[in-house]
Amino acid sequence: MNHPIIQVEPLTTARALRGPFDYVRPDERVDVGSLLEVPFGRQRLTAVVTGLTDESEHKLVSPLKVLPDALPADLVDLGMWLAHEYASTPARALSLMLPPRGAREKTRLWAEATAAADEDGVRLTERQCALLDTLPRFTESDLGALRRLEARGLVRISKEGVRRAPQHHAVGARKPPPKLNADQLAALDELIGAARAPQADGPQRFLVHGVTGSGKTEVYLRAAADTLQRGRGVLILVPEIGLTPQMIDRFVTRFGDTVAVLHSKLSAGERYDEWRRLRSGEAQVCVGPRSAVFAPIAHLGLVVVDEEHDGSYKNEGDPRYDARLVAARRAAQHGAVLVAGSATPRPESVHELKTITLPRRVDGSGMPPVEIVDLKDTNGPVHPRTHEALVDARKAIVLLNRRGWSNFLTCRSCGHVWECPQCDVALILHRDQHAVACHHCGHREPIPEKCTKCGSVSIARHGSGTERLEHDLAGLGKPVLRLDADIKDAGAVLRAFEHAERAILIGTQVVAKGHDFPDVDLGVVLDADSTLRFPDFRAEERTFALVTQLAGRAGRGGDGKVIVQTIDPTASAIRFAAEHDSDGFLAEELERRRFLRYPPFSTLIRVVCASEQPGAALFAAAEIQARLPQSLGPAPLFRLRGKERAQVVVKAAERRSAIDQVDAAVREVSAVKANKNVNFSVDVDPQ
Ligand code: ADP
Ligand code: ZN
Ligand code: ZN
Repeated sequence: MNHPIIQVEPLTTARALRGPFDYVRPDERVDVGSLLEVPFGRQRLTAVVTGLTDESEHKLVSPLKVLPDALPADLVDLGMWLAHEYASTPARALSLMLPPRGAREKTRLWAEATAAADEDGVRLTERQCALLDTLPRFTESDLGALRRLEARGLVRISKEGVRRAPQHHAVGARKPPPKLNADQLAALDELIGAARAPQADGPQRFLVHGVTGSGKTEVYLRAAADTLQRGRGVLILVPEIGLTPQMIDRFVTRFGDTVAVLHSKLSAGERYDEWRRLRSGEAQVCVGPRSAVFAPIAHLGLVVVDEEHDGSYKNEGDPRYDARLVAARRAAQHGAVLVAGSATPRPESVHELKTITLPRRVDGSGMPPVEIVDLKDTNGPVHPRTHEALVDARKAIVLLNRRGWSNFLTCRSCGHVWECPQCDVALILHRDQHAVACHHCGHREPIPEKCTKCGSVSIARHGSGTERLEHDLAGLGKPVLRLDADIKDAGAVLRAFEHAERAILIGTQVVAKGHDFPDVDLGVVLDADSTLRFPDFRAEERTFALVTQLAGRAGRGGDGKVIVQTIDPTASAIRFAAEHDSDGFLAEELERRRFLRYPPFSTLIRVVCASEQPGAALFAAAEIQARLPQSLGPAPLFRLRGKERAQVVVKAAERRSAIDQVDAAVREVSAVKANKNVNFSVDVDPQ
């Protein structure tokens, strides 16, 4: 056998254990991407074959089992790259690419009569004749009789796979696609031209910058059709799926069964079957959120990242990958065209991608006027101007980025603040749930009746969240609906709002995403400062996006307006958004970032140390800081889930070497005995 040894990554989460490890290659079918079960120390672990070789210095053992469903080699390659790019381990990165687990292929038996059954002289009982007549349908109780006929060569019984197909919301009738307008045609031409250009021209990466309703999705659909015609696959990434079923529906309606969807709402069986349909080439289009970037599509020709500004593309757990960067890498691996689309693109994308603009809405309507309301001398969260507009509006969307009833509770007598016992943050009152809760760790306790410090029963509630606002606006004479993470069935709320004659929809950022409501005539940002004051270099970008996205949802029919409440009416992110001046905002923002050396003009890497042991996190962070001369810190962070935390931030001009240096520093410091109770997390491009 060529290459009798396999190099294997056992899938363990331990940071210290790094492969590859050598094993005996059981047979030629085991190749790069094969999944195995291997003995590893005293454990049995799932493992991925990452390479083949001829020699090893070690005494080798054989794998215990070869599992079905191998990974394609390009995903193994992607996993190794991802581990390196995000200072994680190959094992953790490869774990992201595995076929959905906890399910197997579902099969059903299929039986048909053979030609021999029709020959003269075949002796059959009446029951057997009847059975043959009803094939291929039969019931479980007939199986014995069928097996006996099979033994006589009169029946063939075989297994066939059964697809567990996901339920789509509304697979509408196939309407003929609309005729593209001139802007869309120009955009499509550019994308198709790039797809057909020789690969030597380098990666073809585009930003489709178009206002909401400018027909971006229609352009993706056409580009996808062209890609399929050329015999290549298509990957479409979308933000959180629960709120964007429309995208899936449109792809399924246009392309039918060649579309596979991969998202967390599917059952294990459905996910598994969709994965296998992609792996086998039966499906060639995948639509899904962040994790769908690992869909096993062969010969990718087009990769689309829709709403590319959306924060959900960044993974929270290790490896803290950014699906937008991974998508670009996959496109480059396959020589596919990359398209990022948004009404509010990230400055990074404007800087790095070739921009195609769709400046107008397809229905010809303009963007609604935006009024800035100064909150400085108002009491309460709703300015009288806003109140008046809410009374007049037919359908309004009101955005407030805080869940719950109030932001925090204090004792009027002694000033005690109710805090989470696990985290250094205030507990938030949720009246509906009869509880105060921590929004960081999920801790909850009953609503206090008296002060735990002094026993006073006078407790003050400060600030207001969506729940209180829902209550306060109930007197305006129209139904008030609420949408935030406390609401279980977001789909039902959205449908109720869609079908209402008059209504107010209150919610956190989710209300500004995805869904299209043609008849919204008022959009309100109640507290634009909550994103703007956030201590983060992306605060401007987020605020601009929030106001612009909301404006995109309001006044689609022609008449509508947006109100933005702020204590700083001069803030440039708000001013640019009010003037619908994306280009102006992006130019100024890029200039600011260039000046301050923020991304895309540098790479940020954040290392967070966390420990239950007092002082340990800060100590470890100081050790890391000492090894990285260019880094800032260590800075203490608030305690989270019972762990003290501290961070070190690196701002580097040279991305690759900075990641390597951080990785080396973390490995060194984490290997020291004194730090054995410290968790280290590395975040490249933190959000
Ligand atoms: P975006 O993705 O930019 O928000 P869509 O592609 O969803 O825009 O288009 C908005 C709506 O307009 C959709 O209902 C779509 O079917 C329709 N549409 C798109 N392009 C055209 C066109 N050229 N003519 C008429 N209707 C169109
Ligand atoms: Zn008190
Ligand atoms: Zn907590």
